[in-house]
Amino acid sequence: MKDLRERLAAHGVHTLLAQFTDIDGVAKGKFVPLAHLDELLTDGAAFNGTSITGTGLPRTGPRAEYWARGYASTVQPLPWLPGHARIVCDGFVAGQPFEACPRQVLKRATARLAERGWHLRTGIEPEFFLLKREGGQWTPADDGDRLDRPSYDLKSLPRQAGFLHTLQQALQECRLDVLQLDHEDARGQFEVNFGFDEAVASADHLMLFKLAAQALAESRGMVFSLMPKPFANQPGSGMHFHVSLWKGQGDNASNLFVPHTPDGAALLDGSLSPLGEQFVAGVLAHAPALCALACPTVNSYKRLVVGKSVSGTSWAPAHVAHGPNNRTALVRTLAGRFEWRLPDASANAYLATAGLIAAGLDGIDRKLTLPPAVADDLFELPPAEVLSRGILPLPQDLGEALRALRADALITEALGPLLTEQFLQLKQVDWLAYQRHVSDWELQRYAAAF
Ligand code: GLU
Ligand code: MG
Repeated sequence: MKDLRERLAAHGVHTLLAQFTDIDGVAKGKFVPLAHLDELLTDGAAFNGTSITGTGLPRTGPRAEYWARGYASTVQPLPWLPGHARIVCDGFVAGQPFEACPRQVLKRATARLAERGWHLRTGIEPEFFLLKREGGQWTPADDGDRLDRPSYDLKSLPRQAGFLHTLQQALQECRLDVLQLDHEDARGQFEVNFGFDEAVASADHLMLFKLAAQALAESRGMVFSLMPKPFANQPGSGMHFHVSLWKGQGDNASNLFVPHTPDGAALLDGSLSPLGEQFVAGVLAHAPALCALACPTVNSYKRLVVGKSVSGTSWAPAHVAHGPNNRTALVRTLAGRFEWRLPDASANAYLATAGLIAAGLDGIDRKLTLPPAVADDLFELPPAEVLSRGILPLPQDLGEALRALRADALITEALGPLLTEQFLQLKQVDWLAYQRHVSDWELQRYAAAF
């Protein structure tokens, strides 16, 4: 610890950013002077538990304190906040891992994999908007960003080069392998990709990305937005997960989703191993409940529709289906991995991954078989044809997704009773408030209609 403290001090670090993640996937924490690193790594920093969204902790007594305990291996000086190093923390209450801390929930899920000698790797692909607010109106931060089909637009992308390259550099200095940065399908929408990693580390990286992007956008007078669908007529922001299951580490690591020929040769024809197929079958079987975790806001359900957008398509899944390299399906299968296209940018990556693992393990334990692969463009397939093939739609609103989650004992068991109760309660409040709100659309449509 002394060694770590001295190395950080030599780097110019004087303060630690003790960071944990709340139920909404929002980074929370405190500044802790470097001199108190030892306490942060042993007991943790204390917080008033009731003030953290989704803990359900009481105001008094031994369970009132939420302790955020840091992990030495995660300490990382932050390029955009000189003198500060972020340290990822887990929640502890009364000396025990806190059952409703989202990172602890994911660690419980990865421990179930570890019991079988397995580990999950994810590559998380955040899409986001850069916005500004003027006169109560939200618009893309860049007024020039106004093409109807802005995918891969090389006129708008360089206009944000200042932000994007500073972000890229910051993430690289934090040892993230930044792969690509592009303009997405909506005005003001971008995506940044970084390398895949172990499930918990990947979610930690996403939180680092969120911290960096928010700070750097703000310093340029922009709002970094992870709202799933800010503009009704344009695509929303997905947060796709590329998923693979592994055995062994280092040079001995082997991807269990890669199929093999009878004589043992790896098959890289784009298909999945029988184990991979069972995992995906589980993910599809639990899709309605997972939807609540992957698409946790009222606004999420404006993204998950078959509908035209200004750019031609939303690219968001609307059906519970899978297909080889099929970006119109919920699961796009690829060689040795699959892309889970359900989550949107507002999802808590720890909870979404924990749900995904529980669903996949259920598919494996019950040896579920995959429904037939869909090679067709699901955005074009007539609804009657979709129905006749037994392909189900995703929940159509947050209320339906919450009911599906409540009814799914396997997923709620993986989340644990306290987190499930808190999640359902908080989201239900949002859903009710939204339902009771009288919108401008309603007034325009009905005020003088009858
Ligand atoms: N924006 C799309 C979504 O909401 C995804 C576009 C893409 O495939 O990159 O999922
Ligand atoms: Mg994308």
